[in-house]
Amino acid sequence: MTNNKPLKTAIVTGGGSGIGLAITELFIQNGIRTIIIGRDVKKLQATKEKLGELCIPIAFNLTEFEKISELTDSLIMEYGPIHTLVNNAGINLKKDFILVTHQEFENILSTNVTAVFALSKAVVKHMRSEKNGNIINISSMASQYGIPKVIAYTASKAAIEGMTKAMAVELSPMGIRVNCIAPGFIATEMSAKALNDDKERMQKVLSRTPLGVLGKPEDIAAAALFLSSDAAKFITGTILPVDGGNSIGF
Ligand code: NDP
Repeated sequence: MTNNKPLKTAIVTGGGSGIGLAITELFIQNGIRTIIIGRDVKKLQATKEKLGELCIPIAFNLTEFEKISELTDSLIMEYGPIHTLVNNAGINLKKDFILVTHQEFENILSTNVTAVFALSKAVVKHMRSEKNGNIINISSMASQYGIPKVIAYTASKAAIEGMTKAMAVELSPMGIRVNCIAPGFIATEMSAKALNDDKERMQKVLSRTPLGVLGKPEDIAAAALFLSSDAAKFITGTILPVDGGNSIGF
């Protein structure tokens, strides 16, 4: 119990780093028990040590689809209903279109799309019986306009935006809101890999971002907290750019 209100519980995939970590920190500051899922045990443990008892680290590879339902059932058995699922975990591959192998393409789709479907399905099974819950997906500027050398990532993030709308129309009548945040370029390990050795790309990003800087993970966290809260109770099916204006930049 926090402030005499029942504890809310969230799952944040990839909650041990970057944007997911910022969302987890903000959720916990707001008294939300947050289950974080990732593959790197050290990263998860360090997050747990920093954030304390409301942080529940779970080492799990989300591409093990066949085990997701069992994992979700056991988490709900232990911690009760899940109020918010943030499908944040994702991987990127920056490579010329012509050089990307089928296997690499499939790998990106597995993590960024199929795992989102599998975990959402497993969580929705429970949210449906509670007639309450909300899901936040994370897309990217790659689904707003064309970016070279990220073919699989772009396919995956375009899929996420489509899935958000399809899920929202089907699940909202059951009391489950589904929204998506489309982050602009946010300073994390992932964007560092794509931008730091590519001055031209970095320059392009900044020149079409009216606010003129990379975003911070906390900027995405603030939007996630809002979308997960009752303040957003009439918002579903939306794709919210949090991008310093990058998606409308000239
Ligand atoms: P990070 O690389 O910092 O974080 C990605 C997280 O996903 C890691 O914590 C990682 O955990 C987790 N993850 C990846 N694969 C798996 C898996 N198979 N199973 C479980 N966890 C997994 O990236 P960001 O914080 O930058 O990105 C977070 C999300 O935001 C992604 O969906 C990304 O596409 C999106 N995004 C990021 C932007 C940016 O500019 N940074 C812009 C637009 C969108 P672990 O290593 O422990 O497995």
